[in-house]
Amino acid sequence: MKLILRAFVSTFFLTSAVAAASAQDIPKLKFNEVREIAPGVFFRYAQISATDKSVVFGGSNNIWIVFEDYVLVYDANFPKEAGDVIAAIRKTTDKPIRYVLDSHHHGDHAYGNAVFAKEGATIIASASTAKLLRINGPKEFEDAKKDRKDIAASYLKVPDLIFDEKLVFDDKKQRVEIYFFGHAHTAGDALLYLPKHKILCTGDACTNGPFNYMGHSDSASWIRVLEKAQQLDVQIVCPGHGPLTDKSVLGKQRRYFVELREQVKKGIAAGKEFEDILKSIDMPWHKEWTGIEANTRKNETRHVFDESTGRTMPWDLVEDFGIYEGPSPTKTDKGWAAPKKIVVPSLMPARLAELKIIAPNIFFVPVKTAEEAAKEALGADAVLGYCTADIVKANPNLRWIQVGHAGVENDLVPAVVNSKVVVTNTARLYGPNVSDQAMALLLALTRGLAPELHKQTSASGHWQKLKDASKAQELHGKTMLVVGLGGIGTQIARRAEAFGMRVQAIDPSDAIVKPSFVFSLEPPAKLMERIAQADVVVLACPLTAQTKGMFGKSQFDAMKKSAYFINIARGGLVDQKAMIDALMKQTIAGAGLDVTDPEPLPDAHPLWKMPNVVISPHIGGQSDGARDRQWRLFRENVRRFVAGEPLLCVVDKQKGY
Ligand SMILES: [Zn+2]
Repeated sequence: MKLILRAFVSTFFLTSAVAAASAQDIPKLKFNEVREIAPGVFFRYAQISATDKSVVFGGSNNIWIVFEDYVLVYDANFPKEAGDVIAAIRKTTDKPIRYVLDSHHHGDHAYGNAVFAKEGATIIASASTAKLLRINGPKEFEDAKKDRKDIAASYLKVPDLIFDEKLVFDDKKQRVEIYFFGHAHTAGDALLYLPKHKILCTGDACTNGPFNYMGHSDSASWIRVLEKAQQLDVQIVCPGHGPLTDKSVLGKQRRYFVELREQVKKGIAAGKEFEDILKSIDMPWHKEWTGIEANTRKNETRHVFDESTGRTMPWDLVEDFGIYEGPSPTKTDKGWAAPKKIVVPSLMPARLAELKIIAPNIFFVPVKTAEEAAKEALGADAVLGYCTADIVKANPNLRWIQVGHAGVENDLVPAVVNSKVVVTNTARLYGPNVSDQAMALLLALTRGLAPELHKQTSASGHWQKLKDASKAQELHGKTMLVVGLGGIGTQIARRAEAFGMRVQAIDPSDAIVKPSFVFSLEPPAKLMERIAQADVVVLACPLTAQTKGMFGKSQFDAMKKSAYFINIARGGLVDQKAMIDALMKQTIAGAGLDVTDPEPLPDAHPLWKMPNVVISPHIGGQSDGARDRQWRLFRENVRRFVAGEPLLCVVDKQKGY
């Protein structure tokens, strides 16, 4: 048996050496055939056809890598096919199958997990795939039992080994790099790369043919994932489905999404209905690649149409910013009724038209002021853009208010807090722009762009170096304390870490998982101790009854003489007199302020005159991207509200954020 096995391996070793060396010479395999495509790397081609109905779908393609002491398999396939794959592996090696990586959570890639686990394998997945298998998996697995006997006879085995962005196996004989590049075919696609052999296994993040189910995808993010994959030095691509191929398939896959998005958007802009847009899809090259016309791919086109018209979840808001659902009433709650009337701020006609698409049965009433909103609130189910006591008093049955900002300290008046209305804000969506502002203020102080230093150079109109070179500081190696690790604080921490800073964070919530770029995350009891160690203190917490004036004399006294203070949150968090004292006496080095108390800061205010202070007029929230994110959140929340799904960015009215 062993002798035969050795002969088998060495024969394929010879043919594969040629294949790996030349990209044009990709082996053409028959269905279910196994080929050693590089030393110790085997590919099994699963049967599939987009045009021939007599070809029974045979699950996903499989790759296995034979290390010195064990075998690692890419994709668990369906339970039946998992058995077939294990039998095929046994013909290539007698080493134990120690690891199986699920490329994503779909049944043809993950439901064979239990079969591999019985062989003693550990199941690997990205964090998102593991989460999807844990949370949605049980129900989806039950549903799949109706379609396949092998699933009905098996059970759902969830992954045991979970990675965030990268996982490496290297025993010198083989090196395997596993990557999560972002949301592609699903939220958790894991790609497997063999740098020595220049082989990339993509799962369904790239298929060779029209096999991309898009229902769980984010097409914009998918394009970016493919671009990252294209950066790798690759000669052979093992796709999730379809024949083995070369690197050009990554470009084809990407081109399909780019052109589909462009053509669908063009159709929408021209006011076309979906069916007409589908007919108009024109990609002659697509048939050459896949065997079918692009304008027959109804589901894919529909998905992009839905994405472009706000009918699907804006995944990037959830994944990039960590916004989450509810708690808020849903259609499964007793007494829930479909809403009829929503008061909206006066929107551009195109935006109102977008809301009509996702909520055709809703009567939208545009208003220009909070007073008008209160007048129209009677009989309305929701008010967008305004939150006042008069609005909730006008309609005690009002169900939802969406505000267009993150800090809700002025909105949460007693009438609102005591009513049953659900308030949603735009928390976390301002992370990129406000954190840019924080870094801009900090860099202005440390790099000699602050007013007093600036005067010596460009403002005076001639070239003059800083008189005191020590005023130009570097951030590298310094410690930043971020007070409040919410959406904005997290983004500031990410940026500071990239500048080489050590980031310590204080936050009262024990629900936050410490990101890798944050050195320590501690409760407010540690605040004073950490202030004393920080070179930069950044306030990034909401203004509530508990946090009002939280930064006063003792906090400024505790700061290092060389430390900078940055506030991009709210002026009311700070005892401004204590701050001015510290700046005057120079017991701190300087301050960068996007917020003050009061706002606007009066013209003659002493802060304007201070040489070690940089002030911006509360502009952190302004940016090119923020308005777009805010609108997409509004639109998604309207879609959710009308459909009876949990809302995003729900404010805890008791906590005040
Ligand atoms: Zn899939």
